Amino acid sequence: MKRLIVFLLVTILFTSCQEEAPVEVLATTSVVADAARQILPEEITITALMQSNIDPHSYKPVESDVAKLNSAKIVLHNGLHLEGKMTDILEKVGRDKPVYAMSSALKHNDLIEVGPNVHDPHIWFDLNLWGRCVEGLGGFLALQYPDYKDVIVANTERYAAELRGVHSDFAAELMALSDSNRAMVTAHDAFSYFGRAFAIEVMGLQGVSTAAEFGVNDIRSTAEFIIERELTTVFTETSVNAKSIEALKEAVEQKGGAVRLGKPLFSDALGEKGSPEATLIGAFKYNTTQILNSLK
Ligand SMILES: [Zn+2]
Repeated sequence: MKRLIVFLLVTILFTSCQEEAPVEVLATTSVVADAARQILPEEITITALMQSNIDPHSYKPVESDVAKLNSAKIVLHNGLHLEGKMTDILEKVGRDKPVYAMSSALKHNDLIEVGPNVHDPHIWFDLNLWGRCVEGLGGFLALQYPDYKDVIVANTERYAAELRGVHSDFAAELMALSDSNRAMVTAHDAFSYFGRAFAIEVMGLQGVSTAAEFGVNDIRSTAEFIIERELTTVFTETSVNAKSIEALKEAVEQKGGAVRLGKPLFSDALGEKGSPEATLIGAFKYNTTQILNSLK
């Protein structure tokens, strides 16, 4: 009996220790976690709060997330209210520990304004812009981990250069599209920075946040845009319900047009762990290939 009690106590102790294992670096989205993974040495664990397919605009932290936020050494997020339902908790956590926003590296003029003092948060699909965010993150992490400063600085330089390299690799092909082909439609407005970088007109059925409602008028005007620009493809997104885009496809057909659903793009969340699209560069290459194929 005594042995059994000792065994149970050890088990309980072990289980509670496991549950309370501290989180080192906690990133809100998979995109932000990827940036930290590219920069930090392997010894430092990085946890993403939101897994693939999760929409950050509507994500509300559950109890276990709050525990992770409380136990993390540092917290990284995108900023510009991408994590719209986490504003209060990030502010609260920021009183006790370093909380870093990727967007803090950018200036007002870098951003796309979508309303009075409201900016489009989808900064990662302009890889040049994201390269600057990565450099900002590198500076922050080097201060947090002085023992690893040299490796962090070297990784930051390498990764920022890689991002710029991928951007210019695709630029020639994207810039060579004819003027009449420079338009695309997606489920929500996640690709405006991509569009700005490569002079492609981008229309999202929903606004910059999936929290915004869309109505019959949005479907009608987007369907008219598709017919007018003779688009062959509309894109769903992995982190957004496909119903809205299916309704749009029907509206185009009702107006006598035809459009097909493209393979879902990775917008606000990267791909499953282990897949090529689990990194931002992998997701960018995949998206851009799909977009190019639909526009040629
Ligand atoms: Zn979004």
